[in-house]
Amino acid sequence: MIAELICVGTELLMGQILNTNAHFIAKELAPSGIDMYHQIVVGDNPKRLTEVVNTALSRADVVLLSGGLGPTDDDLTKETVAKAMGKDLVLFEDEWKKILSYFESKGRTVAPNNKKQAMFPHDAIILKNPNGTAPGCIMEAGGKAAILMPGPPRELRPMFLDYVLPYLLEKSGHRLYSREIRIFGMGESDVTYRLDDLIKHQTNPTIAPYAKTGEVTLRVTARCTDEAEGEALVAPMIDQIRATIGDVVYDTNGRELSEVCHYAMIESGKTLAVAESCTGGRLADAFIDWPGSSAYFIEGDVTYSNDAKMRRLGVRKETLDTVGAVSEECAREMAEGARKAANADYALSTTGYAGPDGGEPGKPTGTVFIALASEEGTIVKRLNLFGDRDRIRHTATLNALDLLRRNICTK
Ligand code: AMP
Ligand code: MG
Repeated sequence: MIAELICVGTELLMGQILNTNAHFIAKELAPSGIDMYHQIVVGDNPKRLTEVVNTALSRADVVLLSGGLGPTDDDLTKETVAKAMGKDLVLFEDEWKKILSYFESKGRTVAPNNKKQAMFPHDAIILKNPNGTAPGCIMEAGGKAAILMPGPPRELRPMFLDYVLPYLLEKSGHRLYSREIRIFGMGESDVTYRLDDLIKHQTNPTIAPYAKTGEVTLRVTARCTDEAEGEALVAPMIDQIRATIGDVVYDTNGRELSEVCHYAMIESGKTLAVAESCTGGRLADAFIDWPGSSAYFIEGDVTYSNDAKMRRLGVRKETLDTVGAVSEECAREMAEGARKAANADYALSTTGYAGPDGGEPGKPTGTVFIALASEEGTIVKRLNLFGDRDRIRHTATLNALDLLRRNICTK
């Protein structure tokens, strides 16, 4: 099956925005076995859009379109494609009601020209858009299909994954099976560099990297006829990836780091306490977010001031006076103090400069110490994190989780 992509928007031609929708769709389509021979960018111009739609319909089975579904006059993708396919638009009352209630829920008033977002050919398949007002749609004629999606990536992406890709797979008779490898402690460029050979020679399965703050995900996807065949294709690739990049892989089934720690704690039968300074409760939240955490989570202290660190955790005044609260010693005493106070098997601690101000000579903003205390002793790690306050607090939390994961998952 051949697909063609048309991205509509004068702003794309002018270089005002980057065509990330083309990148996203191409990357998602690559493993599906559906061929894409052409991608086109065209401005918001009915004559030129008609030309490229006709060309695309003449040489592809499916034409994917992004953009131009908005309420304004220059949003004309639907009208133009419908005309090219010989279809008239009619009002879909249900879709109109949904648009009205979407506006109501946002406390905004609906403009009369929003009505055109609820107009489709009578036989169109409507694609839901929970993230915006413009629904997408599929128009079919003469064995061919045009699939219209909204321009904003946060609307297009879920619509593509939830509705469009399944439609395409069904139509092409293919199936996709994927698993997600989750990685912490190695950046995306490092991961892709080490896996360069595997990525270069990928055909089936394919490997697609995605970066998230402080983390990397690799989605390994196989084209297959059923799940068993998919797993048989994907599993050896996952083993190979694991062998290449090692213990930075914390899961091969798409789970969050906190989820992996949560289940590992439950399995261990041990208990946990946390003592936090710069992460301010995020570490405790990472565990308590998961139902069933009461099986192991005893307590969390947010000891932000020096006084609280001494009073609640028994951090020594001498430590604070000499090396300060952001130090290896303080992190150690916080974790050991929390472990003792809670009578827990494990205790994690965090203390650091989250910025934007603060820091000291030799310990700039982003300097964070984390510690894990257990019956085997205490491990302290110094982190040199970067980014804004939120990012530093987030990555400090992930590092503390990873420290625990590395210690309990190998047991
Ligand atoms: P439109 O539906 O064409 O009015 O597009 C609405 C918004 O979606 C634009 O202002 C862009 O921010 C975004 N957008 C449209 N097309 C693309 C694209 N191909 N890639 C990334 N963003 C896009
Ligand atoms: Mg536009």
